[in-house]
Amino acid sequence: MTEKPYREILATWCEEIENMYITSFEELTERIEEPELSEWENKFVLLLNDVKTEESLVDDASLFEQATSIHEELQSLFGRAEEDLNRQEMGALQPVPIGEHRLPPLPYAYNALEPVIAEEIMRLHHTKHHQSYVDGLNKAEREMKKAREKGDFSLIKHWEREAAFHGSGHYLHTIFWDIMSPNGGGKPSRQLMTAINDAFGSFKQFKKHFSEAAKNVEAVGWAILVWAPRSHRLEILTAEKHQNLTQWDTIPLLVLDVWEHAYYLQYKNERAKYVDNWWNIVNWPEVEKRFTEARKLTWKPF
Ligand code: FE
Repeated sequence: MTEKPYREILATWCEEIENMYITSFEELTERIEEPELSEWENKFVLLLNDVKTEESLVDDASLFEQATSIHEELQSLFGRAEEDLNRQEMGALQPVPIGEHRLPPLPYAYNALEPVIAEEIMRLHHTKHHQSYVDGLNKAEREMKKAREKGDFSLIKHWEREAAFHGSGHYLHTIFWDIMSPNGGGKPSRQLMTAINDAFGSFKQFKKHFSEAAKNVEAVGWAILVWAPRSHRLEILTAEKHQNLTQWDTIPLLVLDVWEHAYYLQYKNERAKYVDNWWNIVNWPEVEKRFTEARKLTWKPF
């Protein structure tokens, strides 16, 4: 059996390169600049011509070298396209920088919810009240950052309270605008309806419970339908003010009980000593597991 001519091997190789290029063409054009792709294409066409021309002036060894280099360049373009995709995916997880929350735009016009909610209310509520929560949260976050940098936590109780109040206000209002619509009303469908029926008996009973909870919030606050990842069902909760004291729309990762029942028998009134010692028993792998699960949930940042 005769060995395959060198040229034939090169031709087969070029065919493979061409197939790789064609298969991933769409992905590449999406992520690599057009001039760069054209440059690669031109080089490849020249190589193809030489490989196919019997009387090419270029010797086989040079053609082989060119094919190797063109193949490598294509691999590098693939690599860059993949990196770009990774960056884009991670981009969804780009954090809101400390102290840089923004007022989300209202997803409809200020008068869109009339006659249920008047335009004037919507405008004030969104541009003044919600904006003040955004500002208050940003201020609290910046002050807490300063405290960490200076190692001065003398005002930490105040700023944590501010972060809870304004943070919950910002996060809850951000949800509030989105869960209303000029085309709203009616009933939920499919899975949510089933979950509501399972948790509250019926949609009618859910509405009654939620309405009564809302009407009975003392002073100012919210009625909130939540999903409880622990009990695997829905629950209706209320918040006084926005927080008392937490930020709604966050998932706990690491928690420390500082009720006296958690330490008094042993530490008496020395809570600080209990807190300092507690770090020695933290189960970080479990915290990391919760973090991994929790970060699967990402809303649009504001
Ligand atoms: Fe409000």
